[in-house]
Amino acid sequence: MTDRDSKPCRKVLDLLPRFIENDFSPEEWAEVQEHLPHCAGCRQEYEAMQRLVDTLETLPTLDVPASFKEAVMRHLPAKPDKP
Ligand SMILES: [Zn+2]
Repeated sequence: MTDRDSKPCRKVLDLLPRFIENDFSPEEWAEVQEHLPHCAGCRQEYEAMQRLVDTLETLPTLDVPASFKEAVMRHLPAKPDKP
């Protein structure tokens, strides 16, 4: 069993992208905080994410044109309406 395949890691790695959008619950945050000190792999991912967030925050606020957003959305695979 590798770290990457173990369940807590999976969950933490899944959660990390959501930190960019501050889209996480206190419970999820606690879980990540609990896990990071024990797992170098996830800690590394977290630090990389943190750096990215810091970089984004230091950038001047960008007004992304709606057309750009639309163009991005068009390139994403369509989400199925039903699960
Ligand atoms: Zn981990």
